[in-house]
Amino acid sequence: MSYLSHTDPQIADIIEKERQRQVGGLELIASENLVSRAVLEAMGSIMTNKYAEGYPGKRYYGGCEFHDMAENLARDRAKQLFGAEHANVQPHSGTQANMAVYFSVMKCGDPLMSMSLSQGGHLSHGSPVSFSGTFYTVSQYGVDLKTETLDYGVVAEMARKVRPKVIVCGASAYPRIIDFKAFQEIADDVGAVCMADIAHIAGLCATGFHPSPVGTVDFTTSTTHKTLRGPRGGFILCNNDRAAATDKAIFPGMQGGPLMHTIAAKAVCFKEALSPSFADYQRQIVKNAKAMAEVLSSEGLRVVSGGTDNHLILLDLSAQHITGLEAEVALGKAGITVNKNTIPNETRSPFVTSGLRVGTPAVTSRGMKEENMRQIGHWIASIVKDIKNEAVIGKIRTDVEAMATRYPLYPE
Ligand code: PLP
Repeated sequence: MSYLSHTDPQIADIIEKERQRQVGGLELIASENLVSRAVLEAMGSIMTNKYAEGYPGKRYYGGCEFHDMAENLARDRAKQLFGAEHANVQPHSGTQANMAVYFSVMKCGDPLMSMSLSQGGHLSHGSPVSFSGTFYTVSQYGVDLKTETLDYGVVAEMARKVRPKVIVCGASAYPRIIDFKAFQEIADDVGAVCMADIAHIAGLCATGFHPSPVGTVDFTTSTTHKTLRGPRGGFILCNNDRAAATDKAIFPGMQGGPLMHTIAAKAVCFKEALSPSFADYQRQIVKNAKAMAEVLSSEGLRVVSGGTDNHLILLDLSAQHITGLEAEVALGKAGITVNKNTIPNETRSPFVTSGLRVGTPAVTSRGMKEENMRQIGHWIASIVKDIKNEAVIGKIRTDVEAMATRYPLYPE
C-alpha cells in the first residue's frame, strides 16, 4: 500500500483498520470468503484501465486483444468447472446475473415464482423492495414449517396454480440439499423456465459436495465470491440454445463495459477451483459446518431443520429470548462476525430477526478444522446464553484473537 498511503492516507488507514479486523477476528458470514493473493493481484491489475464493451472477437473498442484472451480463459474455465455449454462471466454481481436471465425470458408483469426472502430466498428473487418484485408478478413458496425443508409437492401445486414464466430455486439461507431436478421437472410440467441460483453453494456444486444443477436446469446463475472464493461478481451458465439471448441481456441489455480486472480475477478463481485442493477445501467447509451444528445443538441452541448439509447453519434464538440483532452485536464485540437472519415462522422484522446465520467458508480458508469449530461453537453458545455478560464477552474476545492469530489470512 506504499502508493496509496502516500496519495490518500485516509483510505490507506481505513484499509489497514479493516485488515486488522479481518486478521484478528473470526469471519462466520456465510456469504463471505478470503480470496487468494493471485485473485487479489488480478483484481488490482491494469486490466481495470480498459473499456471492452461487447464480447471476445466482437468489441466496440480497439486494443482489446488481451482482454479477449482473459475473458475467453474465464469462460472456458467456467464451462470446464461446471460442465456447461455456455458461460457469461460479465455480470457485475449475482443480482445482475439473475436480472439478465429474467430479461432474456420475461416481459414486465410476467409471473415469476421463487422462494421468499424471509424463508431463505434472495432479494433478487422477487422481493417487493427489489426490481424483481416490482417488474414481475411474484408468487413465493417457503419451507414446510414443521420440517423447515422444501416441500416439492407444495411447490408443484403453486406452479400449477400460478403458471409462472420462470421458477427460481436456490437460496441465501437454506442449510439443506436442494433438489434441482425436481424444480426443473416442476417447471417443465407448467411450461416454465427453471433458474437455479447457486450463489452460496457454487463451490460445493463445482466439486460434487452438493448436486449441481448445470445440465439439469435451464439457467444456472451464481456469484463468484462466496464458497467459490473468487472476486466479487456474477456469472451465468446455460446451454448453447440460450446463449445469444443471455449475452444480449447482459450487454447491451443492462451493462456497459465489463469489469475486465474482475473478469481476469474470475479466470484465476475458476483455475483455482479446478485444482484437487479446492475439492479438499469444499469437503472441509461441510465437515466444519456439521461440527459447528453439532456443538451448537449440544449446547441447547435450536438449529433450524435440525442440522446442515452445506456451508451454513441457521440458529433459532427464540428460546434464549434474544433477537438475532442482539446476538449479532454481542458476538461482534467478541470478534465473531455473523449476521442476523430471519427464520421459518419468523415473527420479527428483517432488521431484528429471531435467528442467526453462521457459515464456515472463510474460517475454513484460514485452515481451521472441526476442533476450531467446536471451540467457536462453545463461544457462540456462551455469549448468546448470557448476552449481557460483558466479562464473558471480553474474555472470549481475547481467546478469539489468540485463535485468529494462529491462522493468518495470508500465510507467508
Ligand atoms: N443470489 C443469492 C442466492 C445470494 O445469496 C446473493 C447474495 O448474497 C445474490 C444472489 C446476490 O449477489 P450480489 O450481492 O453479488 O448481487
